[in-house]
Amino acid sequence: MAILKVARLGHPVLREVAASVEPIDIQTPKIQSLIDDMISTMREYNGAGLAAPQVHEPLRVVVFEVKDNPRYPDAPTLPLTVAINPQIDIVDKTRQGNWEGCLSIPGMRGYVERPHSIIFSALDRYGVRFSLSLTGFSATVAQHECDHLDGKLYVDRMENLSTLSFVDEFNRFQGLDK
Ligand code: ZN
Repeated sequence: MAILKVARLGHPVLREVAASVEPIDIQTPKIQSLIDDMISTMREYNGAGLAAPQVHEPLRVVVFEVKDNPRYPDAPTLPLTVAINPQIDIVDKTRQGNWEGCLSIPGMRGYVERPHSIIFSALDRYGVRFSLSLTGFSATVAQHECDHLDGKLYVDRMENLSTLSFVDEFNRFQGLDK
């Protein structure tokens, strides 16, 4: 497994609409090693999730996992999930805010409001369909990763850009007014 280079804000691959993966291609070595490498890369950089465009592959593949993450110490556990061609259905439109970060925008945080409760469905790495009911921070992670597949970054979702902060300052002043 390899640690992949992560595209950063400004790289055009982050603004592309990613292509769906044909189900017949899921078991190919190309897709399987992409998934393995995405998991390694996410873990190496303590990401809560990673989308394939972030590693320069404009395909609809995301991974996420939250477990004792030093970048998000207060976040609830979210088991390792590999999702191909994911889809989100909003269950509860009530918006909730979270401080989001992104491996493609290193060292920063911004306050983003998103729907609180979703059904997340996708194919797993064996091509089997699954769905998850996600709320709170977990719903935010899934929505953030799926946004990457449509060329969107969390900064596009911020209603108030004045909350954009470097992590050090965020840690000092996180009680700041939103
Ligand atoms: Zn991101």
